Amino acid sequence: MRVPQPIQNLIEAFEKLPGIGPKTAQRLTYYLLHVPQIQLDELASAAENLKKQTVLCSICLNVNEHNPCDICSDSQRDQSLICVVEQPLDILALEKNGKYKGVYHVLHGAISPLNNIGPDELYIKPLLDRTNKGTVREVILATNPTMEGEATAMYIAKAIKQLAGDNMKITRIAHGLPVGADLEYADEVTLEKAMEGRREY
Ligand SMILES: [Zn+2]
Repeated sequence: MRVPQPIQNLIEAFEKLPGIGPKTAQRLTYYLLHVPQIQLDELASAAENLKKQTVLCSICLNVNEHNPCDICSDSQRDQSLICVVEQPLDILALEKNGKYKGVYHVLHGAISPLNNIGPDELYIKPLLDRTNKGTVREVILATNPTMEGEATAMYIAKAIKQLAGDNMKITRIAHGLPVGADLEYADEVTLEKAMEGRREY
């Protein structure tokens, strides 16, 4: 039996999402056939506005409704302390306990030669421009404790030291974090300990 085209279209759209195989894509699509039209319209409009109504902060590259973002424009935050993360989701995780009072920089990925992602594919240059202004005293490297995250941290530490010399303090968060894990999945206590136990890089 041929699947009706509108159904097939949505199945194929779901299949493109990470972690969703053909079976799940089918199940989700047929589930949505039972949902009231108003709920479908809300889903469609939420997806439509996801990127239209958000911007990348021109300072830290976090996703936000405003530019500069809420954190960069917060005068209570220490602008001389920059925590470097791979993804915007990592900021959500680090913000949960409210202990960190510095600002962030989002790389939007990590160096991964296997996937053809080099330093130029990430937002490393804007970070170097930020640290090169003489107003930053410490950079905390909070990339994931994976091979890619370590390689990225090492690359950035080297690049900053080349530009700023030894005046800049560069630290790496401690690994109470399980090796190979993503920052976004760590619990608040582990993240807090990791931040407290950061060491000079
Ligand atoms: Zn920002």
